[in-house]
Amino acid sequence: MTAFDFSARVERVEPSATLAISNAATELEADGIDVVNLSVGEPDFPTPENVVRAGKEAMDAGNTGYTSSNGIPELKGAIADKLRADGVAADADDVIVTPGAKQALYEVVQTLIDDGDEVVLLDPAWVSYEAMVKLAGGDLGRVDLAPHDFQLEPALDALGEAVSDDTELLVVNSPANPTGAVFSEAALEGVRDLAVEHDVAVISDEIYEQITYGVEPTSLASLDGMADRTITVNGFSKAYSMTGWRLGYFHATGDLVSQAGKLHSHSVSCATNFVQHAGVEALSNTETAVDQMVEAFRDRRDLVLDLLADHGVEPPEPDGAFYVMLPVDEDDAAWAESAIQDAHVATVPGSAFGAPGYARISYAASEERLREGVERLAEHGLF
Ligand code: PMP
Ligand code: GLU
Repeated sequence: MTAFDFSARVERVEPSATLAISNAATELEADGIDVVNLSVGEPDFPTPENVVRAGKEAMDAGNTGYTSSNGIPELKGAIADKLRADGVAADADDVIVTPGAKQALYEVVQTLIDDGDEVVLLDPAWVSYEAMVKLAGGDLGRVDLAPHDFQLEPALDALGEAVSDDTELLVVNSPANPTGAVFSEAALEGVRDLAVEHDVAVISDEIYEQITYGVEPTSLASLDGMADRTITVNGFSKAYSMTGWRLGYFHATGDLVSQAGKLHSHSVSCATNFVQHAGVEALSNTETAVDQMVEAFRDRRDLVLDLLADHGVEPPEPDGAFYVMLPVDEDDAAWAESAIQDAHVATVPGSAFGAPGYARISYAASEERLREGVERLAEHGLF
């Protein structure tokens, strides 16, 4: 057996905590244990029927070869139309279609970040941002939103201290994973002012943008001064319950697409051909299905908050996505370990997101399982 000499790049990151815990839950289930899996952020609804049909028809019609690397014109056009409807001055030629939003983020970070470049994250932040920055050799700056109920507006002064002329990139995710916070327009204008002042590029990860409850999210690139410095990232996994299809995209002006396109063409070549055709259907013909899923998520959010309140747990109310951050013990890793091993409820410890003392629950599960999960945590004295 050869002794492999691993790259420093790979050795400096950990596996994805969200996926690792979900795998651990699956292993317990394989041993016959009934686990309430509230760990991974994955809608439990089927993909809308018409989208599945469009994928099958595209396959039957022979759309099974490579596509042009950046994506099929119909999908890039539909994406540009969608972005324009959100107030972004979008052009289909400035879009790259990727196998999932994760790949879009990976390509953007690899394209912009050199060794030692500074990237600022808003904590709690989704687990993969940190890993992607480290893989690219970047240095992390962090602003903690936890003392502000996970909102950005009251943290703008702290953000102003973290962002400087040395900052290359800022990552904004609203609605946010893991908190469900939806940042106000005033907060995003604050981001804009800092980005313009210090000439910083901003990734706006808008993957949960359709999943909001009574608030309208703002697309960062639609703000004056942001069109040329925002990379808008989005995907089909959450809004259309298409996690396994692997489809996402990013849009940015200038040369970003031609530079990132090199990485895209040398790595994934293109997103799966027939999946891209299904994506066109998802963008054009799913309004009712999305509304129904969002309604169900809202009911589940309300249910989870009520059930937690019955046990004296009162997390900040999330306005979007399908996550709640529970305040737990200081040692959140031990809490989550006890939750999965003793109560058989899978959650993600807050430390994985830069939020020690919390655990993330994904309420993308049936009401029955949510009741069962909260009950088990209570029975095991975890509240
Ligand atoms: N961004 C955020 C904030 C996420 O939670 C996820 C979850 N998977 C992604 C991006 C990537 O999603 P996907 O690759 O499935 O499109
Ligand atoms: N984004 C989801 C989560 O946070 C899916 C898993 C992942 O890609 O991290 O659980």
